[in-house]
Amino acid sequence: MVATALLDPYNRTVRDLRISITDRCNFRCTYCMPEEGMKWLPRDELLTYEELTRVARICVERFGFESIRITGGEPTVRAHLPVLIRHLAELGVDLAMTTNGATLSHQAAELARSGLRRINISCDSLRPDRFAAITCRDALGAVLAGIDASLAAGLDPVKVNCVVVRGLNDDEILDFAAFGRAKGVELRFIEWMPLDGGGQWNMGQVVPATEIVAAIDAEWPLVAPGGGGVRDSAPAESYTYADGAGRVGVIASVTRPFCESCDRIRVTAEGQLRNCLFSVRETDLRGILRGGGTDDDLASAIEAEVGRKWAGHSIGQVHFTRPARSMSQIGG
Ligand code: SAM
Ligand code: SF4
Repeated sequence: MVATALLDPYNRTVRDLRISITDRCNFRCTYCMPEEGMKWLPRDELLTYEELTRVARICVERFGFESIRITGGEPTVRAHLPVLIRHLAELGVDLAMTTNGATLSHQAAELARSGLRRINISCDSLRPDRFAAITCRDALGAVLAGIDASLAAGLDPVKVNCVVVRGLNDDEILDFAAFGRAKGVELRFIEWMPLDGGGQWNMGQVVPATEIVAAIDAEWPLVAPGGGGVRDSAPAESYTYADGAGRVGVIASVTRPFCESCDRIRVTAEGQLRNCLFSVRETDLRGILRGGGTDDDLASAIEAEVGRKWAGHSIGQVHFTRPARSMSQIGG
């Protein structure tokens, strides 16, 4: 079957699929979800690995998708993850995962052997006490070991995601940059988005990417090709250290949205297709999957949802509507 590019109404080609495989998590990062009170999906509502793979296969075979990222919730808490990785790797795409990294010290090698290529590991403090306060888990050592295990397993690149929140960890930007330079991993500083389950988000605690870049540039000069960092279809603006010590990225989802180059769609753990992280509507793929729908039915539903993709979100503007679901329920 010859793949046909999937174009949205703004002529952007959609070719990147984010799959959430669970809404559950073994951490409780304060900027993401409350410590108590999250309601988890019943097991039978989650798409099975076969269902997830079928959706992914249609995206690849029919629409030429090139990359798939597995996320959650925390994807490593779902049983038999290597099985899913193997199925998705067989599709021949660039396969990546975003994880909190806590179990990677014993999982990374098997995930790499199963076909995972790239990994993003989240870490929001390098201070054990603060890490525990942010995640509600005393797990900094495990996450750092997970980063090492990922490097040793040959996952490439290994990137570290750090959500910067004013008053929480914005005094660690240079520590993180130094960590990335020393380890040879790309730090990706992320602006805090209004998608936390606890409803604590406020604009005053968003640390603008420009501030993060300026702080790093003052210590270790950065090269910003094109005058503003390298922005490709990935959301990060990526800068190179002038002294050759690698790269560092910022994801300015709030202050400088990258919607004009967005090439992704998302499937939630229970099979709802979303054309944007901030969507307020979804298409129920699980209903089609479990109602005897054909591949043509699924492909039509995906096309129709992409056909409704908007120009972009409008955080900070009066008409912005916060989605009912939080980041961990959508799949970050
Ligand atoms: N549990 C995994 C992890 O933490 O990497 C994967 C899911 S998590 C929702 C994906 C990414 O979203 C992580 O890098 C996390 O730090 C980030 N994230 C979570 N809530 C966020 C928020 N409100 N604003 C910005 N980023 C957020
Ligand atoms: Fe869990 Fe990731 Fe959210 Fe932290 S950011 S609570 S690890 S889903």
